[in-house]
Amino acid sequence: MRHNGKKKLLIISLDACGDKDLDIICSGNEFKDYLNDAAVVKGVKSVYPSLTYPAHTAVVTGKNPIHSGITNNLRIQILRYWKPDWTWYRSYVNGTTLYDEAKSHGYKTASLLWPVTAWAHINYNMPEIFANRSWHCQVDRSLIFGSSLYQLNMLRLYGKGIRGIEQPNLDDFIYKSMIRTLTKYDVDMMMVHFADVDTVRHRYGVNGRKAKDALYRHKERLNGLVRTLKDTGFYDETSIVVLGDHYQKDTHTILYPNYMLRKAGLIKTDGMLRILSYKAFSLNCDGAAYIYLKDRRQRDHVRDLLYRWKDSNKGIKAILERPQIKAKGADGRCDFMLEANDGYYFLDLMEQEEERVSDAGKRGQRATHGYDPEDRDYRTFFMIKDEGVKPGDYELDMSLPDEGVTIARLFGWDLGNADGRVVNEILRD
Ligand SMILES: [Zn+2]
Repeated sequence: MRHNGKKKLLIISLDACGDKDLDIICSGNEFKDYLNDAAVVKGVKSVYPSLTYPAHTAVVTGKNPIHSGITNNLRIQILRYWKPDWTWYRSYVNGTTLYDEAKSHGYKTASLLWPVTAWAHINYNMPEIFANRSWHCQVDRSLIFGSSLYQLNMLRLYGKGIRGIEQPNLDDFIYKSMIRTLTKYDVDMMMVHFADVDTVRHRYGVNGRKAKDALYRHKERLNGLVRTLKDTGFYDETSIVVLGDHYQKDTHTILYPNYMLRKAGLIKTDGMLRILSYKAFSLNCDGAAYIYLKDRRQRDHVRDLLYRWKDSNKGIKAILERPQIKAKGADGRCDFMLEANDGYYFLDLMEQEEERVSDAGKRGQRATHGYDPEDRDYRTFFMIKDEGVKPGDYELDMSLPDEGVTIARLFGWDLGNADGRVVNEILRD
């Protein structure tokens, strides 16, 4: 059975779920039917830096951050360093995407909180965008930058329990909206981003009761999804992808590179720590941090400073230079990238060199992402059920851009100049 002769596409992203989580999230009975029909790839690498926005953009573009244009969650807004905007808008993404290709092939598209889709050409779009200024209202922001009637409908039906990004309320709302959209709207391609596990791990740590509870909630959501698709007859005609974007690591200490730059006279501030002028600046990616130079004559000076800091602070694992950073697929405009050791992460404030997470109040996160995607303990997964895919368990050298390119191949779409490869190992001959 095919709707309009089209194979449908559903992409589910489980933020901050790694391949270590598969035992729990795959334990639902109906979901096991899906697993029998799917290729399940473990050991998938995130992108560099391994953050939500670069990662989700890599999936839909087949490109590494340096080419997709989404090289961080945060925008470079140095004068607003304490609260920069995020890279919310589709217009920041270079080239085409899976949802644009779908639309240009006559698919009706939908998206729930998929990152970097504000003002994207998606038929039913609820973009992820925050109220980041004191005068912003969250509902207004979402309505303005997405499909207002569609969102109003979902909010009216299921929005009662939402309290900002509090979980599980938000993902419960997203789940109900997803089911409604799949069953009552005439969509052919849908992307859904669930952030429950990510939010809970940031707050309570990678493992432990709270994270387990969130994983069990994902299990129920996946199970309910498969049940609904089977009940409504959409299961067979739908290519179903379930993926993770990165994992997380537990933390205990925050490092502040901008404090070191300020102390060295490279950032000048007033008494309120508002920036008056700067020659170098750090923009964090949690487990890593970009160092941008405004004055490149300071390069040797900054390099010396960073190496001295690394010698004196055991939180810094590595300092990368621009050619290495570009080769790994991150922002080629920066001059250095700091990588944190396990247990540490970076933020951009500049009052102190470092701070215990337990002393940091709201900005303290007990676990986070942004670490080296090569790390074996930090890998994620990619599952796909499609008539062109050979079901089975796989452990492959694969990263997020490969996912987009492989999905595009299965649908006969072209992502253009992509970095990813078609993962032929999982395809039928
Ligand atoms: Zn994420």
